[in-house]
Amino acid sequence: MNPFDLSGRTALVTGANTGLGQAIAVGLAEAGADIVAVGRSAPSETAQRVESAGRRLHAIAADLSSIAPVSEIVAQAVQFAGAVDILINNAGIIRRNDSLDFTEQDWDAVIDTNLKSAFFLSQAVARTWVDGGRGGKIINICSMLSFQGGIRVPSYTASKSGLAGLTRLLACEWAGMGINVNGIAPGYFATNNTEALRADETRNRDILARIPAGRWGDPSDLAGAAVFLSSDAAAYVHGTVLAVDGGWLAR
Ligand code: NAP
Repeated sequence: MNPFDLSGRTALVTGANTGLGQAIAVGLAEAGADIVAVGRSAPSETAQRVESAGRRLHAIAADLSSIAPVSEIVAQAVQFAGAVDILINNAGIIRRNDSLDFTEQDWDAVIDTNLKSAFFLSQAVARTWVDGGRGGKIINICSMLSFQGGIRVPSYTASKSGLAGLTRLLACEWAGMGINVNGIAPGYFATNNTEALRADETRNRDILARIPAGRWGDPSDLAGAAVFLSSDAAAYVHGTVLAVDGGWLAR
């Protein structure tokens, strides 16, 4: 038996239409999982790639800047799949400004999407597991700013540091119920989220000079970690935040 095989499982992935969420959804599908993709934009390209891997994708349109859609998302996912086995809290935004000028709006928008929605979606999915007498896997997409300060992204650093803390807290509360809660901390990946950094010649050069692997991450570099933490191979892994960063934190 292959302990990394996800055949017969269903993964709910937020923000799966693009970037890291798309790469994670495709990686999980290639390992055998069906996908429930939750987000604002239609995940057409992701659906095509999941279907090419021989799996199904069900899209749920929802805006996770508030927790209003959470119960409907879980109800629809359960209706599609019977049960959700894996939850990937990936949807996230970033707002950049000097802390002296940072607005309440940019604070709330980031915290609500990156942290509050991840918690209440985890709660809603975990309740289905506890009610059904079964376990499951939750993976929170954290950041280097779960460990470091960064600059000009105060709400983002607060949200991602909070998400790493929440990962540990939920692991402590739910490990005994067969629920594995872990995080993945991507380093610097080439996606929409980092477009501004890559467009700034100085920041781009400084970042690349610090990455031992010498390149920006490609979203496909994340798939292996996501498959591992979603699989039986990670049965005894609880509350860890796995860095996939080309060696950035080791520097
Ligand atoms: P991205 O290309 O900007 O993707 C963000 C995803 O989140 C999109 O699918 C987006 O959907 C979704 N999303 C944003 N706001 C939403 C909302 N209110 N409701 C529902 N979905 C929403 O960025 P990415 O780099 O792939 O980021 C994915 C995750 O990885 C984020 O949590 C980010 O913080 C984290 N991360 C990225 C990096 C990096 O280097 N790229 C590093 C560390 C962590 P729409 O297109 O519909 O808005």
